[in-house]
Amino acid sequence: MHFQRLLLDCMCGKLARWLRLLGFDTDYYKGVDDETLLLEAERTGRVIVTRDQGLYNKAVKRGLKCILLTSTDHVENMRKVLRELNAKIVIPPRETRCPLCNSPLREVDPSSVRALLPSEDLARRYDKFWLCERCGKAYWIGSHWRNIKKTLRELEGCAKEG
Ligand SMILES: [Zn+2]
Repeated sequence: MHFQRLLLDCMCGKLARWLRLLGFDTDYYKGVDDETLLLEAERTGRVIVTRDQGLYNKAVKRGLKCILLTSTDHVENMRKVLRELNAKIVIPPRETRCPLCNSPLREVDPSSVRALLPSEDLARRYDKFWLCERCGKAYWIGSHWRNIKKTLRELEGCAKEG
């Protein structure tokens, strides 16, 4: 559903996790120099998201699509990214990715992830579960998603009920 893939620099860790949950294929680079990051963006066609004005200038000079974040607030930053990408999001997302490793999550039956959940009760209380096949972590619609929904409501015009 999201065609533009992203490449975030080290200052955007929290944002990276959010964008993955919303289904964006989001690479997150920590401790690499600008040149490595720019080459990676060139090679993969990913949109760079950064708070670094210097990196932004270099990217623009090379004709790379880059989004410069000016806020330290992740809601504000998400709003900017969604606006720049002209992306609409749906909650719960039809596609979602593991916030930890960026692998696509697979929707699974509660019974198949019961053993992975912190409590038996969760499998009874919720009916939408996802599993990350790479790192083996289970996700569900719970307080986590409610918080996301609340945050997204703040993203006026970016979210619709799904
Ligand atoms: Zn994972």
